[in-house]
Amino acid sequence: MGITGDKTRPILLVALGGNALIRKGESGTIEEQFRNLSVPVAQVARLSKQYRIIITHGNGPQVGSLLLQQECCPETPRLPLEILVAQTQGQIGYMIESTLDNELTEMEGEHQNLIVTVLTYVLVDKNDPGFLTPTKPIGPAFAEDHAARLSYPTVKTPRGLRRVVASPRPVTIIEKREIKRLIDMGFIVIACGGGGIPVIRHGRAFQGIDAVIDKDLASAKLAEEAGADVMIIATDVEGAAISFGGANELFVQKMSVDEGMRFLREGHFPAGSMGPKVEAALQFIKSGGNRAVICSIDSIEKAVAGNAGTEIVR
Ligand code: ADP
Ligand code: MG
Repeated sequence: MGITGDKTRPILLVALGGNALIRKGESGTIEEQFRNLSVPVAQVARLSKQYRIIITHGNGPQVGSLLLQQECCPETPRLPLEILVAQTQGQIGYMIESTLDNELTEMEGEHQNLIVTVLTYVLVDKNDPGFLTPTKPIGPAFAEDHAARLSYPTVKTPRGLRRVVASPRPVTIIEKREIKRLIDMGFIVIACGGGGIPVIRHGRAFQGIDAVIDKDLASAKLAEEAGADVMIIATDVEGAAISFGGANELFVQKMSVDEGMRFLREGHFPAGSMGPKVEAALQFIKSGGNRAVICSIDSIEKAVAGNAGTEIVR
């Protein structure tokens, strides 16, 4: 792939879930995160020979660590959530870039590939109903007496009381043109980290806002706006199941948009985990995307080939 890129290659967007960096049971050291990353990134490196590539990723545990660091050190000025999202876009973007660079070098020696991370804002609507009833728990868990002294609202979770913030829907990806141009020029682009830096518009200016945007929904919006052909949502299960965890659990290989909407309504895919993935996949297909597959981090290439995961079909 040269500097001019190859616009005949189809566009593949791969959304990496939390387990791309930290697997269940790990404490999340940087060594662990780098080691884990090589699994999805080696596959993306090979896929970059056939596709123009966009990589998106989550940032939940990483923002959680930053929030905990703030709690532990009240002497430093508090940073709002939008700044923490920006920090993790840099941190994780760097980790994906360097892992990708290593994998490509291993594949083909000194390589010509161009890799770039784009700080990405995502526009949200200040009247989004999500702002009225914040639902998204973030950061560390607190005991009741500690939570009572916090300056922000909390919500009960199985781990304890956690800060709760709004999760408005993504309206548009602000850097969509830059991202499209970069992939057309042959860059592998890492973007929309953590669902993007949430901003609202004041006239012509943007203002960051204390909220988090779901990374699957933001990825689908970017896939749509960049004209992606294939969207892969990679996570820690083989795909979507109905009656998940129950006696009648059934892994779904293919589902139509109508079936997906019905399963969502019937409650098979909970908000905050599988729900947004299925919703994102449905949205991408409805907006004109060719293929959307939810699969495990280990089977990204197989899913692209049509041999793994849950595929949403028109
Ligand atoms: P990510 O970090 O990849 O976004 P999530 O934890 O948000 O991961 O979502 C993946 C999780 O969704 C799985 O680990 C699984 O436990 C859960 N899950 C909930 N419902 C389902 C379902 N119907 N089918 C498959 N997985 C499900
Ligand atoms: Mg998730």
